[in-house]
Amino acid sequence: MSTDRLHVDWTRCDGRGLCTELLPELLDRDEWGYPVVRDPHVPRALRRDARDAVRACPLRALRLVTASDPSQPVRVAPHSPAGSRAAH
Ligand code: SF4
Repeated sequence: MSTDRLHVDWTRCDGRGLCTELLPELLDRDEWGYPVVRDPHVPRALRRDARDAVRACPLRALRLVTASDPSQPVRVAPHSPAGSRAAH
Protein backbone atom coordinates (compact mmCIF):
# COMPACT_ATOMS: atom_id res chain seq x y z
CA MET A 1 0.00 0.00 0.00
CA SER A 2 1.38 3.39 -0.95
CA THR A 3 1.49 6.39 1.32
CA ASP A 4 1.27 10.05 0.41
CA ARG A 5 4.28 12.31 0.91
CA LEU A 6 4.47 16.09 0.85
CA HIS A 7 6.88 17.77 -1.54
CA VAL A 8 7.69 21.48 -1.99
CA ASP A 9 8.97 22.68 -5.37
CA TRP A 10 11.34 25.46 -4.28
CA THR A 11 11.53 26.88 -7.80
CA ARG A 12 7.83 27.79 -7.56
CA CYS A 13 7.30 28.62 -3.89
CA ASP A 14 7.11 32.29 -2.91
CA GLY A 15 7.43 31.62 0.82
CA ARG A 16 4.31 33.41 1.95
CA GLY A 17 3.38 30.41 4.04
CA LEU A 18 -0.29 29.80 3.31
CA CYS A 19 0.30 26.05 3.40
CA THR A 20 1.93 26.24 6.83
CA GLU A 21 -1.22 27.89 8.17
CA LEU A 22 -3.43 25.21 6.63
CA LEU A 23 -1.28 22.24 7.65
CA PRO A 24 0.67 23.17 10.80
CA GLU A 25 0.77 19.52 11.86
CA LEU A 26 3.23 18.72 9.06
CA LEU A 27 4.70 22.04 7.93
CA ASP A 28 6.85 24.60 9.72
CA ARG A 29 8.28 27.87 8.37
CA ASP A 30 11.97 28.58 8.09
CA GLU A 31 13.45 31.94 9.08
CA TRP A 32 12.51 33.41 5.67
CA GLY A 33 8.95 32.09 5.79
CA TYR A 34 9.39 29.17 3.42
CA PRO A 35 7.66 25.93 4.34
CA VAL A 36 9.71 23.15 5.87
CA VAL A 37 8.23 19.70 5.69
CA ARG A 38 8.58 18.42 9.23
CA ASP A 39 7.41 14.92 8.32
CA PRO A 40 6.84 14.13 4.63
CA HIS A 41 4.66 11.12 5.39
CA VAL A 42 1.03 12.15 5.52
CA PRO A 43 -0.94 10.09 8.03
CA ARG A 44 -4.39 8.95 7.02
CA ALA A 45 -6.03 11.36 9.46
CA LEU A 46 -4.38 14.34 7.73
CA ARG A 47 -4.84 13.33 4.09
CA ARG A 48 -7.83 15.57 3.56
CA ASP A 49 -6.08 18.58 5.14
CA ALA A 50 -2.96 17.87 3.06
CA ARG A 51 -4.98 17.75 -0.14
CA ASP A 52 -6.72 21.00 0.81
CA ALA A 53 -3.32 22.65 1.35
CA VAL A 54 -2.14 21.40 -2.05
CA ARG A 55 -5.25 22.79 -3.72
CA ALA A 56 -4.84 26.13 -1.93
CA CYS A 57 -1.24 26.66 -3.02
CA PRO A 58 -1.51 29.50 -5.54
CA LEU A 59 1.74 28.60 -7.29
CA ARG A 60 1.29 24.83 -7.37
CA ALA A 61 4.50 24.48 -5.42
CA LEU A 62 3.10 22.05 -2.86
CA ARG A 63 2.40 18.53 -4.04
CA LEU A 64 1.45 15.14 -2.75
CA VAL A 65 3.39 12.26 -4.24
CA THR A 66 2.92 8.57 -3.65
CA ALA A 67 5.75 6.88 -1.79
CA SER A 68 5.63 3.92 -4.16
CA ASP A 69 6.28 6.21 -7.15
CA PRO A 70 7.71 9.58 -6.05
CA SER A 71 7.82 10.87 -9.62
CA GLN A 72 4.05 10.72 -9.95
CA PRO A 73 2.05 13.45 -8.20
CA VAL A 74 -1.17 12.44 -6.52
CA ARG A 75 -4.02 13.84 -8.55
CA VAL A 76 -5.99 16.54 -6.79
CA ALA A 77 -8.59 18.90 -8.18
CA PRO A 78 -7.13 22.12 -9.55
CA HIS A 79 -7.41 25.23 -7.43
CA SER A 80 -8.82 28.57 -8.46
CA PRO A 81 -5.76 30.78 -9.02
CA ALA A 82 -7.64 34.02 -8.52
CA GLY A 83 -9.41 32.88 -5.37
CA SER A 84 -6.36 31.22 -3.91
CA ARG A 85 -4.11 34.17 -4.59
CA ALA A 86 -6.58 36.48 -2.90
CA ALA A 87 -6.49 34.26 0.17
CA HIS A 88 -2.70 33.94 0.06
S1 SF4 B 1 1.25 27.82 -0.27
FE1 SF4 B 1 2.60 27.18 -1.96
S2 SF4 B 1 3.67 29.05 -2.59
FE2 SF4 B 1 2.76 29.46 -0.56
S3 SF4 B 1 4.40 28.94 0.90
FE3 SF4 B 1 3.17 27.07 0.62
S4 SF4 B 1 4.19 25.92 -1.02
FE4 SF4 B 1 4.98 28.02 -1.09
